[in-house]
This record gives sequence, C-alpha cells and structure tokens, in this order.
Amino acid sequence: MCGIVGYIGGGNVYDVLIKGLHRLEYRGYDSAGIALVNPSGTLNVYKAMGKVSNLENFCKDKNLDALAGIAHTRWATHGEPSDCNAHPHYSEDGNLALVHNGTIENYKLLKDALTQHGCRFHSETDTEVLVQLIEYIKVKNNCSLLDAVREALKQVVGAYAIAVVEKDHPNRIIAARKSSPLVIGIGDDEMFLASDATPFVEYTKECVYLKDEEVAIIERGEPLKLVTLENKEAKIDVTTLELSISQLEKGGYPHFMLKEIFEQTTTLKDCIRGRVVNGGKRIIISGVDDNKEKFLAAKRIVIVACGTSWHAALLGKYLIQDMCRIPVEVEYASEFRYSNPVLDDKDIVMAISQSGETADTLAAIKIAKRMGAFVYGISNVVGSSIPRETDSGTYIHVGPEIGVASTKAFTGQVMVLTMLAAAIAQLRGTMTQEQITEIGKAIQKVPSLVEKVLRLNEKIERLSLIYTYAHNFLYLGRGYSYPVALEGALKLKEISYIHAEGYPAAEMKHGPIALIDEEMPSVIIAPNDHLYEKIVNNVQQVKARSGSIIAIVTEGDTTIRNIADHVLEVPEVPEALSPIVTSIPLQLLSYYIAINKGKNVDMPRNLAKSVTVE
Ligand code: GLU
Repeated sequence: MCGIVGYIGGGNVYDVLIKGLHRLEYRGYDSAGIALVNPSGTLNVYKAMGKVSNLENFCKDKNLDALAGIAHTRWATHGEPSDCNAHPHYSEDGNLALVHNGTIENYKLLKDALTQHGCRFHSETDTEVLVQLIEYIKVKNNCSLLDAVREALKQVVGAYAIAVVEKDHPNRIIAARKSSPLVIGIGDDEMFLASDATPFVEYTKECVYLKDEEVAIIERGEPLKLVTLENKEAKIDVTTLELSISQLEKGGYPHFMLKEIFEQTTTLKDCIRGRVVNGGKRIIISGVDDNKEKFLAAKRIVIVACGTSWHAALLGKYLIQDMCRIPVEVEYASEFRYSNPVLDDKDIVMAISQSGETADTLAAIKIAKRMGAFVYGISNVVGSSIPRETDSGTYIHVGPEIGVASTKAFTGQVMVLTMLAAAIAQLRGTMTQEQITEIGKAIQKVPSLVEKVLRLNEKIERLSLIYTYAHNFLYLGRGYSYPVALEGALKLKEISYIHAEGYPAAEMKHGPIALIDEEMPSVIIAPNDHLYEKIVNNVQQVKARSGSIIAIVTEGDTTIRNIADHVLEVPEVPEALSPIVTSIPLQLLSYYIAINKGKNVDMPRNLAKSVTVE
C-alpha cells in the first residue's frame, strides 16, 4: 500500500512530486509528505495529515526550491495516521530523508538495538527504523549512502520499497525494493521513480521495473545504475509503457468509480479483443496452449485471491468445474499461505489480483511454486509482480482502475475466467464444439448488453434514495449469483459504510433470516437460470417476514416482479455470463447510496487500492 514518487531533472521538482502524489493517492491517503533537497545544501521535509491537498496547503509558504525530491502518500500499518508518523522520515542527524512502502517485521528488534546505541525515535512507525539504521551504518562504517543502504537492507526482514535522499548529495536518489513495487521512469535528462507508472506516464514511456533486492542509483546526468544487495551490477531491462494519460483522468465524470462503471462496455471489449475468434468457434487465452501438458494433466485447480478478486475466483470455480470438469478450490491468499497447503506438480494454482502486487497473493504464489505446482496469474497491471513471479498467465486488459472499490476489474476478471474455462474445456474436450461456439458468440455480445444494463443508471439513482438510511443489507443469490451477492455486499460496505452481508440464498434459513424485518432490505440476484424456481422460494421467505426486496431479474420476469418491491431487469444471457450483467446494477446501487450519504467513493476511509502489505 501507499504511494512513493521521486524526481530528479530539469522540471519543477515540487510540482512533479505533488502531481505524482495525486495520481498515487488511490493507494493510500491518510497522510502525505515530501522531502526536497535544496541546491544550497538543505534537506526540507514537509508533512501533513490527510489528503495530498492538505500537504499542498501546508507547503504554500515554504521553501520549495529543489534539485531532487521524494514524496509519499501513506496507508498506515504501524502507528496512527498523524503528521509525525507521515513519511518522509529524517535520520537523527537530519542528513537523510526516507520514504517507505511495506512493513518491517523485525523493526522492534532493530529499534531496541539502535536505541541502545543512543538513537532516538520520533515516530511510531516501522519505517523510521530504516532511516536510523542506514544513518547508523553510514556513520559507523564511514561509508557511502549506497553501501549503508545495502548493508541496512540485509538486516531487514519484511517488505519494502524505499527511496532515500541525502543533504550533501542533492543530485542523487537511492531506491530499493523487496516485495513492494517500484518502477523507474527514464526521460530526457530526467528520472522518476514511483510505486507504479502513473506519476510519470505523461513525461516518459520508458521505464525499468526494479526486481526484488535491487538497489537503484538515480543520479543527475548519469545513466541509471542498478546493483544487488551484494553490490553486483544488475541488468537493466527497459519496458515501454502502453498507458495513456487520458486513462488516468475522470473524463467528465464526478468520480473515478462512476467513470469506471460506465467504461465497462469498452473495457469488456478490450478484454475480449483477439480472444474469441473464428466467429466464436475458438477461444484463445495466453498461457493455455503453450502449457498444454499442464492443463491436460491437471488433477485440481486451486485459485488464490483476496477481496473482490476472491469473489471473481469463486466464480472461476463454478465456471471451471462446469466447463472443464476439474475440481477447483478457492482460497483466501492470506489463509492459504499459512495453512500448510498440500500441493504437487499435478496441481495448477491460479492467482488473481487487479494490481498484480497483492502481498498475500504473491506470498501464496511463492509457496505454490516451491511445492511444484504450475502457477498461472491473472492481473490487470502490465509488468507488475504477479505476472513476473508466475509460470504463465494473462492480463484482463481493462486499463488503470483508480477508484478504490473495484468495478471494471471485477467484470474483467470474470470475463477472463469465463474465456479461460472455455479455452481449457476446448483443450480437454469437455465441451462440444457447438457449446464452445454458443458461449463464444454470447461472449461477443456482452459489451453491447452491458450498455443496456447501464441504462438502468437513473432508475437506480432514484431507487437509492429510498434505501440510503438503511443500517443493514442482505444480499442473496444462488449458483453463479452467490459470488455476485458477496461482491454486491462488499461494494456497499466499502464505500457507504453500511453493514451488508452476502449469503447463499438458501443458507439464509440457517441464521440470517432472523435479521429480516421491515428495516432490513434484501437485494436478491435472481436471473433466469436453472436455480430460478429455487430462489423464488427464498424471495417468498423474505417477503413473508416483511422484508423489503430489490431483485435483479432477467428481462420479462413476471413471477418475482409480483413479489419484490423493486425489480431491476437485466438482459438474458447464458448462465455462465450472468454475473457480468447482474453485478453492474449492484455497483451503481452502492455508488449512489454512498453519494447520497456524502461519502468519498473514490477514497473510502481506511481503505487503499492495492494491498501490498500483509
Ligand atoms: N509501514 C509503514 C508505515 O506504517 C509504511 C506503510 C505504507 O506502505 O504506507 O508508515
């Protein structure tokens, strides 16, 4: 979590850094700070609690002259959000300033040892240990900053992406990473560093993704240099970004979340492009044909993910089991990694993460690889850690998702999983050519059907007014609609702070039905699928207890329409594709309820976009 940005070059350092922080704010926003190394040999650190705009206000009357600088927007793990815990942190002698993304697991041990050597700490963060340790080593060994950083990082257990500046060397930034992302942008006579490429995409498309335990020496007028912690020169692989600046702006929408909900027509087109070919007869997903023997021999698939990606994973289970007849297990990556899993080389582990940087998912991948499983990654961010750590995989290609509550990434993940299941089924012969063509053709129609779903926007906006002040919601679904219920409830919780539970509709009888009364609305996802008659019973059960019902139904539905208080009709699609059309009304419903409550939907409290810490 958190965003780091750094800059050296001929541009206005402060302006580049602040703009970069705004771009990274979706990653964390409880406080922000900036360190500027001044041509006259001073190192100024300015910090402010809250959003980046607070930092800007704070900096108004400050000396902003700089040759180089680093900045940070924080998502606190150690120590409350406060001015003092905000980054950058100074070293005790004030010569160094450091920003950090990640967690230092042995910080207490290091802190105690440094305290015994007379070091004083000013914050509650784990991060401050890093800067004090670097200073301590630098003074003790009388060595360069680079050597001190390398030595310090060898003593650290945990995850880090760091950037350090030094008062006496205003033309240099030292940066390093392990398990947290860091990318260096290479422009003309200027260099950038950032947690992802969004802060510098408008200045350069050339960049270098740092690998674990690499240290970067970014120096004015010098080419980029990378070394390992052992001081061996590391190879520089330059990547050209495909990202464009318009993808990072709101494009006339009041919020990124609404823009991203409405973009789903296009993002799903991009996601499908080139993958459903020959008039729907063939479905191609990268990594399947190249690893034929793995997919043919697979005895089991285990999908690991967190949050919204976990809901997509659960749909992946239904899809793969239905289409490929391979048993699938779905695990929370954070549980899987500590669960002493049983895996072997006949297992395929699939890892799903929008950012490609989710710490627990990355840890799960490492375990799966160690145990001999073939690991397949599904992510959105090109060049992120998951695609680099996995044996093979694919991208969802939905473009940058800035809103903290995932919308277009969820439908992209589900679409990729649908196509992946069909591609594996084709390979294993578990679906007939006729069935493949049927799903292939249906997939091609989804973007235009999504456009139709989005026409519900105004109806949902009006409907949201009735339910804004409910304190609890129940979301119910069966089969493919059960993960949709979970995702709908999560969306509402994330941005409106209303308690909501997603439940398999039939399970309701085993507990949650006790909660139902006229105060507790139920959102029931009931498209026209093979469980329709069953869910009609559940709708009746809620109504019999005076619960009010919002139902998502297929166009032309009459039965539920007569029972529910409100219905939202979505177009008819094959059952496997129903989650894409049924989840979008739920995204809009949570968006409008949160807006009615005056919440910041793009930056909900306590959350951040990608969870790169444990
Ligand atoms: N662990 C550090 C802190 O709590 C960094 C958190 C982050 O990645 O923002 O300050």
